[in-house]
Amino acid sequence: MIDPFGRDITYLRVSVTDRCDFRCTYCMAEDTTFLPKADLLSLEELDRLCSAFVAKGVRRLRLTGGEPLVRKNVMWLVERLGRHLKSGALDELTMTTNGSQLARHAEALAAAGVRRINVSIDTLDESKFARITRWGRLQQVLDGVAAALSAGLKVKINMVALRGENENEIIPMIEWAHSQGMDLTLIETMPMGDVEDRLENYLPLSLVRTALAQRFTLTDLSDRTAGPARYVHIAETGGRLGFITPMTHNFCESCNRVRLTCTGTLYMCLGQDDAADLRGPLRASTDDVLLDVAIDEAIGRKPKGHDFVIDRRRRGPAVSRPMSLTGG
Ligand code: SAM
Ligand code: SF4
Repeated sequence: MIDPFGRDITYLRVSVTDRCDFRCTYCMAEDTTFLPKADLLSLEELDRLCSAFVAKGVRRLRLTGGEPLVRKNVMWLVERLGRHLKSGALDELTMTTNGSQLARHAEALAAAGVRRINVSIDTLDESKFARITRWGRLQQVLDGVAAALSAGLKVKINMVALRGENENEIIPMIEWAHSQGMDLTLIETMPMGDVEDRLENYLPLSLVRTALAQRFTLTDLSDRTAGPARYVHIAETGGRLGFITPMTHNFCESCNRVRLTCTGTLYMCLGQDDAADLRGPLRASTDDVLLDVAIDEAIGRKPKGHDFVIDRRRRGPAVSRPMSLTGG
């Protein structure tokens, strides 16, 4: 699948549910209304859609959400998709999770062929964790991380950098993650969905990087598959640190990814509202002819870049859908 700007689309992110057992303040409102269950694609339909993308050249698949591990029977889907790893059609099957259910599922994920997962943790302080996630319990997540590591999964920690909230914890988080052989990626808050305090919490990672350079020896790494993440190696800890700065445009030219929601809507760019409905063509026939046409048409509309900007007058998001719909 080559888009109009010559980019080979080989990476699909799939949000398997919009539901979550946390309510992170930057991601969703506490009283979020979720999609009616009837609107969701079945797991069989998600498997069919993902497999259609694999047949068209997708090599990496990431399951996300909402919280992917709260979707009932989601491990059935993971195990089904594992067949594409065995056949060699897929290079990698990964997941981004809040970790709350990981202790139960880590072994099965590894057995299905998953090698790496991302776990989101913004703080190692129990009460701050409860405040940021509203409904989360830190210890449960740490138990999940421990289970993942002992199942042999490579774990990367995602940390959203929040001014006035966790900026003093960045160094301890680096030291903690690297001491256990885990990468850490810092994420700038993105203007998505309708949630409070976005401007107040926005912390530019350029400032964080400058401050970290006073303390650590940072060496840039060139990882062309990293998408919006830029990585450095830290000499003192021996680990890798990533910076995801979605407000800058420097990664759009090499963007190889598209995002599918749990209702079968395909977003060609995280930072744009244009989308294509794949549920209609999926359900219209049992073969994939219509679906393939719809996918090709959608890829043909992938935009050159995104429109992220925090509008300081309206204080509104640039993209109205929440991250929990497309999974980041
Ligand atoms: N529930 C899973 C989790 O939290 O890892 C997967 C979905 S979550 C939407 C994916 C990632 O997006 C998480 O690392 C989360 O911290 C991040 N995220 C959510 N809302 C965000 C926002 N407004 N800006 C930046 N990152 C955000
Ligand atoms: Fe749930 Fe992940 Fe959003 Fe937090 S960031 S509310 S864990 S979907």
